[in-house]
Amino acid sequence: MKYIYLCISNNATARNPTRSTMSSSLAGKLRAFVFNPHNGPKVYQDLQAADVPVTTAECRSCADPCDQDHDDFSSRLDIDLDSDMIGSVKPYRRQVVISTGKTDWEKEVTEVEGTLAALLITANSSLGTSKKPQSTNDPLPSGLFSHTKAGRLAILNGSHRPFSRDESEETVIVLPDFMVVSGVPRTLAGAEALWKAALDPALDRVGVTTTRSDNLSTWVLPYSCLILLCSHKRRDKRCAIAAPVLEKTFQQYLEREGWEVHTDLHDLTSEPSLESQATSTTEKEQLIETQLKSLHAEHKALILKNSHIGGHKFAGNCIIYTPRGAGVWYGRVTPHEVESIVKHTIIDGQVLPTIFRGGVDLACRGKKTLYDW
Ligand SMILES: [Zn+2]
Repeated sequence: MKYIYLCISNNATARNPTRSTMSSSLAGKLRAFVFNPHNGPKVYQDLQAADVPVTTAECRSCADPCDQDHDDFSSRLDIDLDSDMIGSVKPYRRQVVISTGKTDWEKEVTEVEGTLAALLITANSSLGTSKKPQSTNDPLPSGLFSHTKAGRLAILNGSHRPFSRDESEETVIVLPDFMVVSGVPRTLAGAEALWKAALDPALDRVGVTTTRSDNLSTWVLPYSCLILLCSHKRRDKRCAIAAPVLEKTFQQYLEREGWEVHTDLHDLTSEPSLESQATSTTEKEQLIETQLKSLHAEHKALILKNSHIGGHKFAGNCIIYTPRGAGVWYGRVTPHEVESIVKHTIIDGQVLPTIFRGGVDLACRGKKTLYDW
């Protein structure tokens, strides 16, 4: 418990000089704890009680003041250090990330006519009403939710480029499923085909296997983890300043651990799609599960930038997905925390409570990490 408490005071003092002097004494640390009660020991206890793999490790690995030349952009930005971050994630059934090859977008990406984001909104509202599962209150602590109990489709633009040379087709990452669907025409019919094949709330990650008439191709997202960084400048410049710095720092620490890092989704069209390999639902299920289970050992990370996810006052914002479909949302992330996130969350599969905003499918009874099945 002491460990977490120290983590809190470190975090607060890193960005607020008025708290630095306070932290130099035990009384100061206690005051920092009192003034910044969010994400304290209670969060650790709640996560542990909810069967979330959680660690008491420090979220900051460098000294305070920093001895590692980390670019702490938060000292230049007005970051909200006081509000409670827990529960600041709106539950969703699925989150999709659409290829754009860009790192900034119009303010409301789903209102830009002719884009797949806008077309998906239309498709989702016309197709979704009858089949959505009824949203129920999740019996989990605030901030945690299971995707099967939510109905919302969260639509994001992403920095990856589409596989297809045909400029009218997009490549979409589907989460928490950890799947990739390519060849999605940027038309209402294309959006509807994607919805019916992979986004219908009634479907699990295997999607539709028997009555497909579309030309969509599907693969398992071939990475050990996906790191999403909000970079949406036209929504909030704080995220746009944080994202490139965090991308560079994540890359640096992951490579130091021997991981391969990609900042664009590698073209999968030369590899057999699931449609070309599996003829039945059972076959597809087995293929997907085998592939997903093997990914952690590959030590390969994909970092993408994405449009607004909410909570930009907590910049830097990042979401980390594992192949099992667990998604951890972190806020107030600066380069000081990246090494710890890499070691504890990305490699060891455990949640760091101090920077935790919430997450999808994190509770796993009897499992030690977010990678375990
Ligand atoms: Zn540092």
